Amino acid sequence: MSTDAATSEKKESGTYEGGCHCGYIKFAMTLSPPLPEYKVLNCNCSACSHLGYLLVYPKATDVVWHNNGRERCSNYVFNSKKKDQMFCPKCGSSLGIDFHDFFKDHVYGFSVRTLYGINLDELNYKKLDGVKLVQPAEDLSGHIWDEEKQEMK
Ligand SMILES: [Zn+2]
Repeated sequence: MSTDAATSEKKESGTYEGGCHCGYIKFAMTLSPPLPEYKVLNCNCSACSHLGYLLVYPKATDVVWHNNGRERCSNYVFNSKKKDQMFCPKCGSSLGIDFHDFFKDHVYGFSVRTLYGINLDELNYKKLDGVKLVQPAEDLSGHIWDEEKQEMK
C-alpha cells in the first residue's frame, strides 16, 4: 500500500536488470538516486577507456546476482591487485569492478552499458580526469603484459 502512495512522489531509488551480452551473467541492482538523476562516472583512465566503463556504484547489498553470476565472472586484476575487473568468459562483455574491501563498504562499479533497456544518450555524466587523478596516475594501457616472461607484470 505504501508503494501506491509513493508512486506520485519523486522516487528515491530505481532497480535495474542487467547482464552480459550472451545472458550467461545476469544481475539486478538498486541505485539511489535512480538513473535519471544519477551522475554516471565517465572517467578517462586507461582501464575505463579500454574496458568501456561508464560507472555507477551500487552497494553490494543492493546487488542481486542471478544464477551465481558473480562466480561465473572472469576477473582481470592489475596494479594494486585489490579490485576485480569483471567480464563474461563466454561473450567477453565488460561488466564492471568488484572493489571488495577497497572502500569502507563493499561496493561494485557497474558499467551502465550492461543494463537492459537503457538509452545512454539520456543519462547524465560526471567527468573524471582519472588518467591524472587516479593513482598511479599514468596511462597503463599496453604496459602490463611482460612479453619476455609471458605473464602479467
Ligand atoms: Zn556473456
